[in-house]
Amino acid sequence: MPAKTTMTTKILVWMAAGLMLGSLINAFMAESLWVQDYLVNGLFHVVGAIFISTLKMLVVPLVTFSLICGVCGLGDINKLGRVGLKSFLLFLLTTALAISLAMTVATLIGPGQDFELTENASSSFTAPEAPPLSQVIINLVPTNPIAAYADGNMLQIIFFTIIFGVCILMIGERGKPLIDLSERLNEVMMQVVNIVMHIAPYGVFALMAKTFAQQGLDLIVPMMSYFGAVALVLVLHLTGTLMLLLKLLGRVNVFTFMKKMRAAQIFAFSTSSSNATIPITLSSVEKRIGVDNSTASFVVPFGATINMDGTAIMQGVATVFIANVYGIELGLMGYLTVVVMAVLASIGTAGVPGVGLIMLAMVLNQVGLPVEGIALIMGVDRLLDMMRTAVNVTGDATITTIVARSEKSLNMTIFNDPLAGTVEPEIHLPHKKPSAVRQS
Ligand code: ASP
Repeated sequence: MPAKTTMTTKILVWMAAGLMLGSLINAFMAESLWVQDYLVNGLFHVVGAIFISTLKMLVVPLVTFSLICGVCGLGDINKLGRVGLKSFLLFLLTTALAISLAMTVATLIGPGQDFELTENASSSFTAPEAPPLSQVIINLVPTNPIAAYADGNMLQIIFFTIIFGVCILMIGERGKPLIDLSERLNEVMMQVVNIVMHIAPYGVFALMAKTFAQQGLDLIVPMMSYFGAVALVLVLHLTGTLMLLLKLLGRVNVFTFMKKMRAAQIFAFSTSSSNATIPITLSSVEKRIGVDNSTASFVVPFGATINMDGTAIMQGVATVFIANVYGIELGLMGYLTVVVMAVLASIGTAGVPGVGLIMLAMVLNQVGLPVEGIALIMGVDRLLDMMRTAVNVTGDATITTIVARSEKSLNMTIFNDPLAGTVEPEIHLPHKKPSAVRQS
């Protein structure tokens, strides 16, 4: 078995083990204080939280160094504008397709039509505030870049880093040492990603075990029509819309693409965060799929922030579900408003935590549906969040690959090599010290 497959397979096996153990704990040991205190809220919680922090720790430095290299490596600075515009339009297109598909399928299935609305279910959700779109646009420019880096504000980081990279190019020869330094730092950060891959099986195991120990599958039963509809549309969008676009516009083998995205999808599924998955998405897209650094370093973090197809799907189905539960007719105008609002909300809520439900609250408000309806779907949201994050991340990588192909920045030799970019199961340290260290 090839070395790389082993690593992804290993993560997958540990993920399944975590899922099973968590479900067993939920079913048979939910009352055991010992298991809850020492395992679920003890060991699993600590290991899972450390794993997510380790991933998040990489995001800002990796995006920064990688983007400086990307901008400085561009042969032609106009390419940056083209790549930005193309990816932005494609992100909007896929989000609009995702929510339209969700609303069509949900209307056909009719989730929530026989749902019994009980008193206590409808009172406990208060929607968090989302900033207005104008403020989001103003906020693209950081007043203090250090604060932007410290807060991990992705759009502000992208904005400042691009200007910084362009200016390194503008000072000519004297900027060269900075480019070299960024390249080396980028390489070091990619090595850290490799190390994280080695601890991933245990991190993923702990996250799965904790989630499934706390989140019994029994909650899904009364919500089956909603849960099933979201899951179905996620699968349809992933295997249908996205792969069709990839085939038509990217002209690549979709099975190879999917295989190479498996690690990023597993990370997205277990962490429920496109942002924390950026390091893995970036390394998969560059090293496994063959997108050049100039395109990937920009489109991947941009997509992780503003492109959320899976989240849009949840909103489409949730809107139809809530309308059905409360017996409110949406009408054609209502449907169109939801599509437009969801697309705008996906841009507007960039960088706001708990983004999916905030976006949904905005959408519901706009079409006059009760925002308290969100309380009904919150019980199963944790599991759906895992699934939709995997779709969000696949969407980011799909658009990155399409844009790279159109810019002739996709290395087909890497794409077609099944072993390209795979992680060795063992960590190898060089036996000799680097010469610079030896001399001193
Ligand atoms: N968890 C999703 C993501 O990070 C966003 C959401 O649906 O809330 O991609």
